Amino acid sequence: MAALRLTSNALRSTTRNYAVRGFSTSSLRLGAVEGVDRLSVIGAGQMGLGIALVAARHASLPVTLVDSSEASITKAMAFMSKLVDKDVAKSRITEEQAAEIKGRFTTSTDIASVSTSDFVIEAVPEIVDLKLSIFKQLGEICKPSAILATNTSSISITKIAAAAGSAADRVISTHFMNPVPIQTGVEIITALQTSQKTLETSLALCKAMNKIPSQSADTPGFLANRILMPYINEAIICLETNIGKKEDIDAIMKNGTNVPMGPLTLADFIGLDTCLAIMNVLYKDTGDSKYRPSVLLQRMVDAGWLGKKSGKGFYDYSK
Ligand code: NAD
Repeated sequence: MAALRLTSNALRSTTRNYAVRGFSTSSLRLGAVEGVDRLSVIGAGQMGLGIALVAARHASLPVTLVDSSEASITKAMAFMSKLVDKDVAKSRITEEQAAEIKGRFTTSTDIASVSTSDFVIEAVPEIVDLKLSIFKQLGEICKPSAILATNTSSISITKIAAAAGSAADRVISTHFMNPVPIQTGVEIITALQTSQKTLETSLALCKAMNKIPSQSADTPGFLANRILMPYINEAIICLETNIGKKEDIDAIMKNGTNVPMGPLTLADFIGLDTCLAIMNVLYKDTGDSKYRPSVLLQRMVDAGWLGKKSGKGFYDYSK
């Protein structure tokens, strides 16, 4: 496949590494991925659990799920069990396969437990300093061959790679989409420092996890959120300026553009804290006022109304 290229002249004139690198389709294999025998996921929230589950189920990998909160791990493991049992009930897998998938999980609240993994995927909240401190630790504690991936929605992969010190060439973004077991797309973003081997192993792993990778450049929001978040933000601005009721905003986009859910429902589903964090990165990193987060979005996060995960967002999920 021909190398994808950035269309902007300004970006085209930067280094080759900054542009999106070409897929080497010959390296995309189903099944086992060379050099990847154990995976760790840091952050057992909605994304981390989904990533761990598709790795255990489709790539048959033993997975260590790490979270600083014991309560998050307990909740994640209960949800994982429920999802696997649902697949049995729908005859997608046998009871024996379900037991194998569940048996591939280990959990820990200690980040040091990822040190024996060949591939580590970070899925903690979208907070720059938190991600940087985790990658600094990963650079120090992981095997010298381990690939260190982030699931960030918007933060510079190059900045995250720099935090990993001498491991920078093994840092990449594998940006899974929500809900991970259902969405087939994964956005792969290389840092300036990322090696071709890191890219090829990551592409192969995503394929083994039954996903379809796309590549985008390390620019604020990459592709998916550069397009999606201003759309969601604009829908919230329409609500705060009384252009339409929330039900009407969602209904016209759902029924008029054939998307499975309207933008406000989608925002609740993603998490309003995550939406705000992404808009702030787009706004600050580009300096472009078109990315200014809606005041209502900021106030909802101030109130702790984060969407489905907190029980209240634009809609009520308490029941
Ligand atoms: P979440 O709030 O559901 O989960 C985050 C988890 O990280 C929580 O369980 C929390 O306890 C844990 N955590 C916090 N600090 C930690 C630490 N120091 N060490 C270990 N665990 C820690 O968040 P999420 O929606 O799963 O998002 C995770 C990442 O994925 C973010 O970067 C987000 O931008 C990105 N993302 C989210 C979506 C989405 O739709 N929600 C989609 C794509 C990417």
